[in-house]
Amino acid sequence: MTAWTAKVILMSGAVAWFLIRLPHQLRAARTSIAKSARGPREAMLLTCSLTGLGLVPLLYILTGVPKFADYPFTPLQGWLGALVFLGSLWLFHATHRTLGRNWSDSLEVRTQHNLVTAGPYRLVRHPMYSAFFLWALAQVLLLPNWLAGPAGLVGFGTLFAFRVGREERLMLETFGAEYRAYMQRTARIVPWIY
Ligand code: SAH
Repeated sequence: MTAWTAKVILMSGAVAWFLIRLPHQLRAARTSIAKSARGPREAMLLTCSLTGLGLVPLLYILTGVPKFADYPFTPLQGWLGALVFLGSLWLFHATHRTLGRNWSDSLEVRTQHNLVTAGPYRLVRHPMYSAFFLWALAQVLLLPNWLAGPAGLVGFGTLFAFRVGREERLMLETFGAEYRAYMQRTARIVPWIY
């Protein structure tokens, strides 16, 4: 694998992710909302994630900026990156399908919101965020650049760090003891570990 192929894989993965998400985004716009945390804070967090996983790698792929941070590409890192991205797409697909109409790109409770604990939600409470971390890890492996590679981890990591606690509080307010019990038997993003 060449560095060029690795870049094409990263771009194709981003397009595949967009296509997986699209029907959910369209349906979400038509589903009524009981409670929402949308606002400047959420917008800023989504911008951080979009910058790290989208804009920085796109700029690097199209222009080579920041060139000074390049390091030599090895085919092995490219193959590993492709494998990790495939895993993340599989998990994205599974989480979107399982979460169904409860999905949101922000923090929201629908008027008819169900607590999902099946499929990938059986082991971790935030498998979609696990999938985003896998994507960010794939980006580190696929881009041989010390800044553009880890940008996704920084961008999505910021969103995760500032959102996950609020999201769990919102779920506790909505589902009470049921969510508390669910928290006790699951990890956040890495099964049995965290
Ligand atoms: N954090 C989850 C969901 C991301 S989508 C994951 O990583 O898989 C974000 C929306 O999902 C939020 O609006 C929240 O209300 C909802 N949500 C989070 N966990 C949920 C669950 N177990 N069941 C139903 N909805 C959930």
